Amino acid sequence: MSFSNLGLSDKVVAAVAAAGYTTPTPIQAQAIPHVLARKDVLGIAQTGTGKTAAFVLPMLTMLEKGRARARMPRTLILEPTRELAAQVKENFDKYGAGQKLNVALIIGGVSFDDQDSKLMRGVDVLIATPGRLLDHSERGKLLLTGVELLVIDEADRMLDMGFIPDIERICKLVPFTRQTLFFTATMPTEIRRITETFLHNPERVEVSKPASTAVTVTQSVVSCGREPHEKRETLRHLIRSAKDLQNAIIFCNRKREVALLHRSLQKHGFAAVALHGDMDQSARTAALDQFRKGEMPLLVASDVAARGLDIPEVSHVFNFDVPHHPDDYVHRIGRTGRAGRSGTAISIATSADSKSIAAIEKLIGQTITRADSGLVASASESQDTHQSADRSSGERKPRRDRDAKRSRSSGRPEGGRSEGRRNEGGRGRDEHGGDNAGARGERKAPPIAASQQQPPSIGRAPAPQSSRDHHSEPADHSHLPAFLLRPIRARV
Ligand code: AMP
Repeated sequence: MSFSNLGLSDKVVAAVAAAGYTTPTPIQAQAIPHVLARKDVLGIAQTGTGKTAAFVLPMLTMLEKGRARARMPRTLILEPTRELAAQVKENFDKYGAGQKLNVALIIGGVSFDDQDSKLMRGVDVLIATPGRLLDHSERGKLLLTGVELLVIDEADRMLDMGFIPDIERICKLVPFTRQTLFFTATMPTEIRRITETFLHNPERVEVSKPASTAVTVTQSVVSCGREPHEKRETLRHLIRSAKDLQNAIIFCNRKREVALLHRSLQKHGFAAVALHGDMDQSARTAALDQFRKGEMPLLVASDVAARGLDIPEVSHVFNFDVPHHPDDYVHRIGRTGRAGRSGTAISIATSADSKSIAAIEKLIGQTITRADSGLVASASESQDTHQSADRSSGERKPRRDRDAKRSRSSGRPEGGRSEGRRNEGGRGRDEHGGDNAGARGERKAPPIAASQQQPPSIGRAPAPQSSRDHHSEPADHSHLPAFLLRPIRARV
């Protein structure tokens, strides 16, 4: 199968070849002919399967004919987050370079006026997040009655973020006769209902079982004490000792935890950026750019980054927090092992996470390998060398007391829904919105430490700096008198 057999225009086939793609992915091979035949499509596919090009390429072919009218976009693509919307626009820029199409991005967090003047000029492809789109529509600045094709992407993510009522409203604003392409990774009941309401005799295209994980991802769970500082220490150790770590996304369940962990990693000299829903758009774009370009190899993120973001060649995913919802696990680790490449996903689990791990294992239908963090052995191994290890890794000395105190007051994990499941911006309005990780040995050091003057020595775990570092070690108390081992109740 090649792209030239799918019915795409010569221009589009040439653009795909220029992008270096020779064979369509299964979702592309199956969906593109249906889209070109003007049929509704229900695509069930995870991110990383090439589903964006599965709708962008036939759209480009179809848009070669016709012209856009002021304030009346010809096609509309709905995305749950600004980043995903921007990513789809990049696909149009890449494959549609030879076509003079007007592609507009209507997302929250940026000026209305600029968006308005773009709409005024006439738009062939409008890529939007639901809240901002409805704002323009309610101001009378946008007419959706000319939309010939509607794409609803990442529908299950829209559901998680509370956008389904907005999607329903938008579906009623576009003509009944339009063509609809609907993509989702999973099919919960609510999504099934929407497809039954808004799709007409859709062609169902499914490329992998919903909620399956890629076979190219080596998954493991490392157990750890419950205190945030213990988790941070374990994470640092895992990063330093990970094999072939090129770059990593580190997921937290809450935005606040993202900010805390980001600061802590920076304090320890790691080159990390953060991405979460409370950051303004320019900071989010800058962080993502730095990570994509490899300037910052570590991205600490909330679930907003878990789905759909196309960041090629992420070698590692760390779950600093085990997600409360097993679906989120699948989406998080889907950031690595993409397009057949190998990847590593390591989850740091405390005793409070056993139920969540069991739910994840049930969903993915496999038992995740339990791995030793290697922290205890490594720590004692390098007891006498920790000073030099710290210096060579370019890491500043951690201020552990303060770090731990702050964690106790604000960094404790809470129950409840993960951030990604909340609406991150009110009416969405801003819908930003078998490598054993603990294995030791000489390994190639990834460019993780911020200091360029002193190259990092990631392969060796630095020794703890004080007895405070031994939180997760099973201590040997055999030499202590019994009275010292009696529990003490601290006065608070
Ligand atoms: P997506 O699922 O749309 O996020 O795409 C995942 C990645 O696959 C992106 O980096 C695409 O550039 C890449 N990709 C898309 N189509 C192909 C193809 N036919 N062959 C190889 N890679 C592709």
